[in-house]
Amino acid sequence: MHDYWIVGARIVDGTGRDPVDGLAVHVEGGRIAGMGSAPAGARTLDATGLVLTPGLIDAHVHFGLSSEIDPSLRRELSVAELAADMFANCGKTLDAGFTTVRDTGGIDAGLARVVASGKVRGPRILQCGPVQCQTGGHGHFAAGWEPTRNWYDHSIPGLRAMSLLSDGPAEMRKNVRETFRRGADFLKLCVTGGVMSTHDRITDTQFTGEEIAAATAEANARGTYVTVHAHNNAGLRTAVDAGVKCVEHGSEIDDEIATLMAERGVALVPTLAVMHALLDDATEAGLRGGIGERVGPVLRGQVDGLLAARAAGVKVGSGSDLIGPHQALRGREVTLRAEIESPMLALESATRVNAEILRIADEVGTIEAGKLADLTAWAGDPLENPELFTEPGSVALVVQGGHVVKETR
Ligand SMILES: [Zn+2]
Repeated sequence: MHDYWIVGARIVDGTGRDPVDGLAVHVEGGRIAGMGSAPAGARTLDATGLVLTPGLIDAHVHFGLSSEIDPSLRRELSVAELAADMFANCGKTLDAGFTTVRDTGGIDAGLARVVASGKVRGPRILQCGPVQCQTGGHGHFAAGWEPTRNWYDHSIPGLRAMSLLSDGPAEMRKNVRETFRRGADFLKLCVTGGVMSTHDRITDTQFTGEEIAAATAEANARGTYVTVHAHNNAGLRTAVDAGVKCVEHGSEIDDEIATLMAERGVALVPTLAVMHALLDDATEAGLRGGIGERVGPVLRGQVDGLLAARAAGVKVGSGSDLIGPHQALRGREVTLRAEIESPMLALESATRVNAEILRIADEVGTIEAGKLADLTAWAGDPLENPELFTEPGSVALVVQGGHVVKETR
């Protein structure tokens, strides 16, 4: 259908405005042409009883980690199996109501292209290719015995992009230029240790200010930005001073750091769903000693950090950070945020604010005339019952660029 009207839905447009009943959305040529009442004889898509929101955006995904983590890192899975799991994950993401994602490390640009071409069902993907990290830093997931020179053998050119290792500003500059050459939309650096790390502690800082500044200079030169994985404020402050524009996790953010981030226009993407997933099945996941006990404090720290950031006026987005084979319940991030703040704020973070962080707010993120028709319709009202955000079964209809890509009724 090229020109049609979605009728009968309650509209929550993502701008923060109150829900509206009785308006139809006019879709023409893949875009939202306007809102009003459908003229007589117009083609219509009946959404009576549904709640229509902008298509959700997940600002922190890892489609490159769609299989069982340890077997995939040990190279026990074939390239065909890894690709099949990634493609399936792309489809599940769409079915959960997400029409755009930002992949924060691990895929080749080829995955984004194959989805964009329509050969694989999935959301629009913006991606950073490989994560940038220092030798032995977060993102360098080699076994302790494994010489660093073997690390790049874990990458699968055209499909999976494991981290690039930089030690010194010159190496960083070379690696990020290579990353852009291979099609990255933005850069992601690890500036502290991580929860899933094996060689480092979460209190470690990683990369020097000079190394980070080399990356931000290259990103600025291409009109894009750097986001950083940061669990402690020492690493976070160095990164903000070096000019990064977005922080992932932010599990130690206090009022002082939040104020600094607001002053410098640095956004925050908390990632709570992965922490809950790890808490739920830590034993099942066979987490190695030391990882399990990192989860609780990091989760509490992220909740406090997002509230401090919100109070200081920082732009707060929304990311699930799910890894491994169980990524169907991606919307749990929005449910969790609804419980902490409000369902409306949680929805705004996962739509309009994420679009701003991804720098595509002129195209997606709200239901407004001129934007791409990326829309999700819910059976039930997720503002009244935010659990619905978690449940793919409540996603009755997904429209992407005007095309109906899921319809369950
Ligand atoms: Zn991540």
